[in-house]
Amino acid sequence: MMASWEKLASWLRQQELEAVLVAGRTNVRYFSGFAGSAGVLAVSGDVRKIFVDFRYVEQAEQTASEFEVVRCQGNPLDAAAEFLQRQAWRSIGFEEEILTVAEFSRLQSTVPSDRWRPVRLEPLRAVKTAAEIESIAMAAVIANTALIKLLPMIRPGATEIELASALEYEMRKLGSEKPSFETILASGPRSALPHGSATGKKLDAGDFVVIDFGATFAGYRSDMTRTVCVGTASARQQEVYGTVLKAQLAGLASVRPGVLCRDVDKAARAVIEAAGYGEHFGHGLGHGVGLDIHESPRLSPMSGESRLEPGMMVTVEPGIYLPGWGGVRIEDLVVVTETGCRILSPMTKDLL
Ligand code: ZN
Ligand code: ZN
Repeated sequence: MMASWEKLASWLRQQELEAVLVAGRTNVRYFSGFAGSAGVLAVSGDVRKIFVDFRYVEQAEQTASEFEVVRCQGNPLDAAAEFLQRQAWRSIGFEEEILTVAEFSRLQSTVPSDRWRPVRLEPLRAVKTAAEIESIAMAAVIANTALIKLLPMIRPGATEIELASALEYEMRKLGSEKPSFETILASGPRSALPHGSATGKKLDAGDFVVIDFGATFAGYRSDMTRTVCVGTASARQQEVYGTVLKAQLAGLASVRPGVLCRDVDKAARAVIEAAGYGEHFGHGLGHGVGLDIHESPRLSPMSGESRLEPGMMVTVEPGIYLPGWGGVRIEDLVVVTETGCRILSPMTKDLL
């Protein structure tokens, strides 16, 4: 199997770049294995260096085994720029979406501007290896199991924060390193907030509760959402829930290699539009998941010509949000296979 740095080296050849400076923390981890908070890579066809300060020398030597560790006195970014300046390279990639304006102007004061080329490395992480898929699947199983344990606690009087912390505690006990993002647990009218974090609000009978959360395993994240009803659902709640579920299943059914990402979005969106709720589904259908919670590819009307490939991980998460009334979102994380997709969160999607 191709190591991640080999992926980067062959990408450099394709792009006709002589070298690349990698400063984004997740990209540094992906390409080198080093997961510390400060480290910068300089990579060319035959050079692989990681610049770290004294705090991280040992960790870098242990985890970035394919890289030569350079201990620097000051800022690793500046040390890497000084190294690059001493080489004869004419075209060096820099991460335009990662570096701050101040950092880039420091780079330009060391290496002349005409040598820098803006690049995006994050899409190189979109197709996962078998080992990455295994880690994400493990995180997904932890999250799924924790939610099943939480279900009996979802009853009138419990607060959103109590439930969110119980869910996070269950994930921790099952081996999660941390929540994969801030747990969203929003009830009643608050469930209409697509990203409503938990508050002290108590659950009432008849509330919808949107629970969107994930676990982290070996650095890899998971993401799932279920919406449950406290007590008996009204006819309208059942109708809205049924529409979102139908849209979610239509989205899942369209996931396969070669399909345009925007067509997966369209398959689900068409169901919600046909039911008259189009304007209440204001976000894209899904996103890639890996070392970061949101990464390539995106499933949205703005996805252009990007297509799914085997090994990509995407969420399928349509929702309907009615201000003042409540909302429903149903989200599964799937891996694109040779023929379709495999769902990593097996929990039922019947309205509970
Ligand atoms: Zn989610
Ligand atoms: Zn998501």
